[in-house]
Amino acid sequence: MIITKVETFVLHVPITPPITDAINVATHWGLSGVRIFTDEGITGCGYTGTCAHGDDMIVDTIDRYYAPELIGKDPFMVKELWDAMRFGKMHWIGRAGVTHMALAAVDIALWDIMAKTANKPLWQYLGGHKSKGIKAYNTNGGWLNWSKDRLLKDVTEIVEQGFAGVKIKVGKPDPREDYDRVKAVRQAIGDDVIFMIDVNQQWNINTAMTWGKRLEEFNLFWLEEPLNPDDIMGHKKLADALNVPIALGEHVYSKYAFRDYIHNGALEYCQVDVTRVAGVTEWLQVAGLAAAYDVPVCPHVGDMGQIHQHLVAATPGAFMLEYIPWIRHIFEEPATVKNGFYVLPQMPGASTDIIPRYFDEYRVR
Ligand SMILES: [Mg+2]
Repeated sequence: MIITKVETFVLHVPITPPITDAINVATHWGLSGVRIFTDEGITGCGYTGTCAHGDDMIVDTIDRYYAPELIGKDPFMVKELWDAMRFGKMHWIGRAGVTHMALAAVDIALWDIMAKTANKPLWQYLGGHKSKGIKAYNTNGGWLNWSKDRLLKDVTEIVEQGFAGVKIKVGKPDPREDYDRVKAVRQAIGDDVIFMIDVNQQWNINTAMTWGKRLEEFNLFWLEEPLNPDDIMGHKKLADALNVPIALGEHVYSKYAFRDYIHNGALEYCQVDVTRVAGVTEWLQVAGLAAAYDVPVCPHVGDMGQIHQHLVAATPGAFMLEYIPWIRHIFEEPATVKNGFYVLPQMPGASTDIIPRYFDEYRVR
């Protein structure tokens, strides 16, 4: 099999109403992606997720630097191709961020091709583990710009729909307001529901130490991204001092950074995101690393769950997956949760195929 054509796209899918966390305002979810065509008629699709900023730089990287490495090559040589792109012309300026997210889109498309060629959903192509589905928790009711009334209404509905857990955003200018919202949510959902909070890097070590301790009384399942993700030692201090486990990974770009987090006991739930670690190829390595330390894997869904459901379903140490439904309507086989569990995809590939009319409707490039 030979790659014959590489075609990029940028779609901006509206988020209604717009949402905020402690650092982002999102009116659209951006898919900067690529379709890779082969001489055997099988086409792979991969993409990465953004807050609809910087997508042009991601697809520029693919068009100008990665596509020439792919034309005429065998997609089944994915790991060799990954090395050629990772250590190619962009190596000097890119070991994370734009270039790495571009590589993720390409790598995912290649794994999509391989699974489609085998006529298997990716989770079975990788070696299946969770035939009964994946436990889901829901983040879509807990945005920072939600009023307290809306917050309580949404988390209550999420629990009624059968989700195992809810996550809400914190990081208000006055942490006492966070405390008040967390307390109200715990009262609303009861003691049995898994409940996480996400700081989106807004706190410093002192705020995190003080308010992390105060919030422990609400039996939180994890405290997510309390600090700058480059600050491994700060997270270790917190992990040592707090009873609530530390979760992060959505801004961690390499297996080496995950190694240092995990080996130092600075990370207790591994949220490795396939769109950040340059695709399935390195995601699997990070999952293997986490397994060797018995650290549970629970990915952040920068892809909104389409690809991650396959990876979790193929990984014994992965036990649950985030759910955010913003872009599910654009896919041929959308990620679907029923009674609190992801229903595993049955179509061959990585569940990345987009319904053609949405290329017209949401395309910005
Ligand atoms: Mg997060």
